[in-house]
Amino acid sequence: MDKPRIQDDLYYHVNQEWLEQAVIPEDKPTTGGFADLAVEVEKNLIGDLNEMVASGNIPNDHLRYACRFYEAVKDVKARNKAGIRPALKKHNKILKLANMNAFNRNLKELVLSNYVLPFSIDVDCDMKDTNKHCVMLTGPSTILPDTTYYQQGKEQTHDMMIGLWSQMAAGILAKTRLSAEEQASFIQDAIKFDAIVAKLVKSSEEWADYPAMYNPMTTRRVASLLKPIKFRRLLQQLFGQAPERIIVADPRFLKGFSVLFNEENFELYKHWAFVKGLISSCSLLSEQLRDLGGSFSRALSGIAAMPNPEKHAYQTVSRIYSEPLGIFYGRKYFGEEAKADVVAMVKDIIATYKVRVQNNDFLSPETKEKAILKLSTIDIKMGYPDKPRPIYDKFVFEEGLSAYEIMQKLLRIDAEDRFSKLYEPFDRTQWGMPGHMVNACYNPFNNDICFPAAILQAPFYSIKQTKSQNLGGIGAVIGHEISHAFDNNGAQFDEMGNLKNWWTKEDFKKFGQKTKAMIKEFDGYELPWGKVNGTLVVSENIADNGGMAVTLEIMRNLKGANFEEYFTNWAKVWCMKAKPEYLSLLLSVDVHAPAYLRANMQPRNFDEWYSTFGVTKKDKMYLAPNRRVGIW
Ligand SMILES: [Zn+2]
Repeated sequence: MDKPRIQDDLYYHVNQEWLEQAVIPEDKPTTGGFADLAVEVEKNLIGDLNEMVASGNIPNDHLRYACRFYEAVKDVKARNKAGIRPALKKHNKILKLANMNAFNRNLKELVLSNYVLPFSIDVDCDMKDTNKHCVMLTGPSTILPDTTYYQQGKEQTHDMMIGLWSQMAAGILAKTRLSAEEQASFIQDAIKFDAIVAKLVKSSEEWADYPAMYNPMTTRRVASLLKPIKFRRLLQQLFGQAPERIIVADPRFLKGFSVLFNEENFELYKHWAFVKGLISSCSLLSEQLRDLGGSFSRALSGIAAMPNPEKHAYQTVSRIYSEPLGIFYGRKYFGEEAKADVVAMVKDIIATYKVRVQNNDFLSPETKEKAILKLSTIDIKMGYPDKPRPIYDKFVFEEGLSAYEIMQKLLRIDAEDRFSKLYEPFDRTQWGMPGHMVNACYNPFNNDICFPAAILQAPFYSIKQTKSQNLGGIGAVIGHEISHAFDNNGAQFDEMGNLKNWWTKEDFKKFGQKTKAMIKEFDGYELPWGKVNGTLVVSENIADNGGMAVTLEIMRNLKGANFEEYFTNWAKVWCMKAKPEYLSLLLSVDVHAPAYLRANMQPRNFDEWYSTFGVTKKDKMYLAPNRRVGIW
């Protein structure tokens, strides 16, 4: 295929040759950009873990337990020998619950041991007082990845997906002692229960609205809606003293709870929880069960094969012991010189951001002042933390446990730790991501940005790249994360991360109009694998737009700036080859626009795109000036 002109398609112009020769690994849904770096990190850390295990030379106690867990997961022989037994031992407990009374009597244990429950309770930071914790209540997840798959018009996809899921469940239940009829009826019951859940819980689009998650209700009211659950007693058992109010993330679910969970549906619930519990256990059981248990999600993402046992062991351990491994990774692979360089870049970008806010033409001086205060207080977390959170001191277990037992133990320790924190101050020093993750994030509840060591590599960043290239790569990512402080969600939180309006009425209205324009720019855009939902992806697009705006501002003042290098590297970081199934799944659940669109849409909003490449009305990547969107 001929390479398109850059003026018609920046993404393909830059990436086509690569896309033609790139091969998606059989155990992954994508390759390119972020995914390639992640594969490299995985390869390095697997090598390191193997070396630690072989030599016995392990840098610290946290990693000693991580290594022990790694070896247990890698021990295919032991996992195969135990088969499904460890998971049955746990989840049979659900089947043995004789009635609602028995359920209530065991509820604390069911919560702390991570059983599948008809509601989810957790301790999190209080959005309106982020120095404190609160109890958060949400509904359970659905079998299909989003509630929109249950809507009218989606019957074909729904039935196909439920069919795949049932096939997986049947394969797993065949390993139990249940009769063939029981197996079939368990699956039918689970699907029936799930259909009710799907009517009540939020869609991905609804979850993308953070302030809508904050619905404080009195404990008395919540308890009355949760009947027949003895909710107040559960709170007393979990926290000693029941809190006076609960934050309900999903009020529609709570209001409809009695339709879902009642004496009549109790058997449906048990079968749903049992089947879901077994499926979620599979990854630490025999290889055959691991294959079965992952088959549904692999099919949804078009992944050809499961990861080999070594990679699987690494992936499992790196999720649990994420901070100790991230610190190890950062210390070994990330230079102090790079850290200092990127921190300076962040400070420069924040300073430029302030100037842009000061000069912006739609805000009043009052709102500008608050926005600048928020910029001044952003906490920068760069590379990796000095030490892991205290929970890792608790992540200990005796020798000789199976992979499944270790996981159960660690999850229990984690749950107990979270629940014990309700009346303690919230720890604002926590990092949102570990050092070995190829990603970056902004936390609106903490007003902090986090850049793990693993993303500070080419093509995002390199001391060897030009300043223009780095600005189009990591610079735009840094600007993106800062802009999350002022996206449709972030804008509603103040400099301390509290959900609080700091805007004048008029300014917020103008901001709302700009948000709408951004939704419109992406909404309904047709790709070969489906249509974009502009509302679902709006916060990320506002962030991309702000990231590009602030880095182009720096480029304008940069001696020797090369805009061609800037835009080319911008297109390069979004380079991604993915399975069609995965791309279509992302359109339903991902708050980010497809990588192709991220690369190609934002440049059209900026003058430099037109001046650098002489883009005119005749070119495909032209947008009339009145349709260009600029917010920050
Ligand atoms: Zn983002």
